Amino acid sequence: MPTVLDPIQSDAAGKAERLIDKHGRVIADLRISVTDRCNYKCVYCRTGNEGAVYAELPIADYLRIARVFVGLGIEKIRLTGGEPLLRRGLTDLVRELSGLRTLDGGALDLALTTNGHLLEEMAEPLRDAGLSRITVSMDAVDAEKFARITRVPGSYERVRAGIRAAQKAGLKPVKVNCVLLRGFNEDQIVEFARFSRDEDVIVRFIEFMPLEEDRLWTLASVVSMKEIVEALGRFRPVVRMAPNAASETAVRYTFDDGVGEIGIIAPVTQAFCGACSRVRLTSDGKIRTCLFSQSDHDLYGVMQRGGSDEDLVRFIRQTVEQKESRHHIGEPGFLKPSRSMVHIGG
Ligand code: SAM
Repeated sequence: MPTVLDPIQSDAAGKAERLIDKHGRVIADLRISVTDRCNYKCVYCRTGNEGAVYAELPIADYLRIARVFVGLGIEKIRLTGGEPLLRRGLTDLVRELSGLRTLDGGALDLALTTNGHLLEEMAEPLRDAGLSRITVSMDAVDAEKFARITRVPGSYERVRAGIRAAQKAGLKPVKVNCVLLRGFNEDQIVEFARFSRDEDVIVRFIEFMPLEEDRLWTLASVVSMKEIVEALGRFRPVVRMAPNAASETAVRYTFDDGVGEIGIIAPVTQAFCGACSRVRLTSDGKIRTCLFSQSDHDLYGVMQRGGSDEDLVRFIRQTVEQKESRHHIGEPGFLKPSRSMVHIGG
């Protein structure tokens, strides 16, 4: 018989028991996708075809789910998508989430990942609503190259204006994520190093993962962490920085003069599954325990059947327990996950 735990188990100190998977990893980080619509069609993510079917929950339902998760020890929530700034009611959701307290009574670490296209107008309202941090995805420091990747003319100027607006609003330090894709933007590594130093942003390079709608991914298309470090080193001597936390996904570097910060997230060549503290909620209310899961867990189904918060807690605990030990990218027999990135929430 499966073990069904009490909804909120208490330890001797009276604290609710945190979510722990069967490999002993504490789950403290939840990513919520608030829409799977996107206004960009990045070549490494979308097919560019029209006619996809999208699914979103009412804002109040994301909030209820988030509350239940926070009651189980979640300390960090990242809102994502699709493109989260397309979602009506986003600032209301941020305001409500920013009022939640962790099990220790502290403030929730509330972050957002966006393509930045609508950020110029949204940065201040998001800060006022209580957003703590922002990450902007930007895959080239060159207008033409960028538009070739996003397939949206004028996107570069919009995103740059969005980054400046976020900085002005005090959402600092802004992180800028760049997925490197061979043949598209691997020549941008040094340009991004200069960008980090000149614009006071943390740049993070992400290795391309097999999560695209099309079938583009090959190991050869991945620009590896080793290559990135070598390219940075040819620009200026790099210095490894200490990690901020054990579960940090990025390996951090600065330069010999301490100016600029570059993180490298290398899920393909240096997987960090052993320290993974994340679960994801898709925009249609399914839990995914790994980006590369072969199936979803229908939490929203429990809500639709009239489940109580205790039922949600039970479902979440049982799901989290099954979290995969690791992904199998690049191994013989690797199966692409059951959803692409835009329908999971990056
Ligand atoms: N629209 C928002 C954005 O652009 O940041 C949030 C969603 S997007 C799916 C989140 C992040 O996933 C982006 O930084 C994007 O570049 C990254 N991403 C998408 N597909 C990827 C892939 N196949 N491999 C690595 N990163 C990917």
